[in-house]
Amino acid sequence: MTSGFREQLYIGGAWVPPDSSDRIEVENPYTEQVIGHVPAGTPEDVNLAVSAARQAFDGWSALPMAERGAHLDRLHQALAARAADIARTVGQELGTPLKIAQAVQAGLPLTVLRGYADLALSPVVEHTIGNSLIVREAAGVVGAITPWNYPLHQVVAKVGAALAAGCTVVLKPSELTPLVAYLLVDAADEAGLPPGVLNLVTGTGAAVGAAIAGHPDVDMISFTGSTATGRAITHAAADRIAKVSLELGGKSANVILDDADLVKAVKVGVGNAFLNSGQTCTAWTRMLVHRSHYDEAVELAAKTAGGYTTGDPFDAATRLGPLVSAAQRERVRGFIERADARLVAGGLDAPVPGTGHFVAPTVFADVAPDSELAQEEIFGPVLSIIGFDSDDEAVTIANNSKYGLAGAVWGGDEHALAVARRIRTGAVDVNGGSFNPFAPFGGYKQSGVGRELGQFGLEEFQQVKAIQR
Ligand code: NAD
Repeated sequence: MTSGFREQLYIGGAWVPPDSSDRIEVENPYTEQVIGHVPAGTPEDVNLAVSAARQAFDGWSALPMAERGAHLDRLHQALAARAADIARTVGQELGTPLKIAQAVQAGLPLTVLRGYADLALSPVVEHTIGNSLIVREAAGVVGAITPWNYPLHQVVAKVGAALAAGCTVVLKPSELTPLVAYLLVDAADEAGLPPGVLNLVTGTGAAVGAAIAGHPDVDMISFTGSTATGRAITHAAADRIAKVSLELGGKSANVILDDADLVKAVKVGVGNAFLNSGQTCTAWTRMLVHRSHYDEAVELAAKTAGGYTTGDPFDAATRLGPLVSAAQRERVRGFIERADARLVAGGLDAPVPGTGHFVAPTVFADVAPDSELAQEEIFGPVLSIIGFDSDDEAVTIANNSKYGLAGAVWGGDEHALAVARRIRTGAVDVNGGSFNPFAPFGGYKQSGVGRELGQFGLEEFQQVKAIQR
């Protein structure tokens, strides 16, 4: 496995020493041991990276799209060769159980990158409106700032689309899980991306993230993370009217109607809420159940949660790893401590492994729709169950949120589809419809601005020009 002790940044197509000798340590949240470190970048490092990206922009954006597609194809091959390393690295820096890490933390970003390469390799169709030729052009130099919960997927969702569109990128991954981003940059270096097209500056949000967001030569910021940071980035970009694309938090509802397949809806719903130890922006953390099934659903959800094995992410029996950090665990424990609802599984006193930042899979029933449990994004394995009497009430509760990212509906096919249409979120899965990595992904309300993935994700990094003839 590649060493986690990284001393350099990647700027202008070369590994370079950072401005400061300060380092950020990376912890394994299961062993609680330091497994690596990365440079604590500075605004001076950001200046160099933005300047390299600016210099590369004219040449990269002028390439025919298919040539950029060929570069992405080589990048995909180089990244695919690192799949096992990616899964192990995320297993170590985030604590995702290895089997899930292989499928989601390594497999998903490879699929997404392949998709962007294929889109760039497809023929470009320009269209006309009356006497206007409509052309799409690269948005410019992009600052990509990403979180820790799907640390390679979130990077690739931005970098793959931006590069395909003809943008050049300065990437700042989360300081909690920066190591897997180095594997992407290793792959880019090996694939021979032109100098300055992709630059990496690691560091804190306060130093590096803020410097990217406020940099006068960054044309667009693509951010995934908390709503509070998204707000700060939007303020920083407002002075120069830089384009901002935001993928933020969520508090999604899993609506189980009176004619649902109850057992499937509850089991899949619990699995969704606890994926990645509940550290998933789209997690269905509110389970809304029709009163006719309510008691049965509560019993089944509690039993399902109790069946989750917590432990070493590298043990094949483990289904639930630790939370990413001690601070995250304390935050989640705080929500459980303050909860004013009926605890039916887990809780603060439930047994967890002796080392690691664990919270036991926890289920609350009889949760009030306006309570903190039902309103705030907890980002841990905590599920809230709420009852309803009618479709209208279910829709009202589902939409009673400042967020609008995802959700699910279970019921007769047409019935469930009709309810799904009424939910104000960027995505809804009906009767277990699976995640589509090429469909537009993003939020309504405080869950974000713009879309990622597939053609919609690529277009986010383009400007539209009308040429009259
Ligand atoms: P965070 O907002 O704390 O950090 C995200 C990134 O922003 C990190 O790289 C961080 O260093 C940087 N940052 C922090 N302060 C900054 C500032 N002032 N200026 C610029 N950059 C700054 O979020 P997190 O704790 O890493 O991630 C968890 C959050 O991300 C959750 O709220 C979750 O819902 C959200 N998330 C959303 C999506 C989505 O697509 N909608 C996906 C995953 C995670």
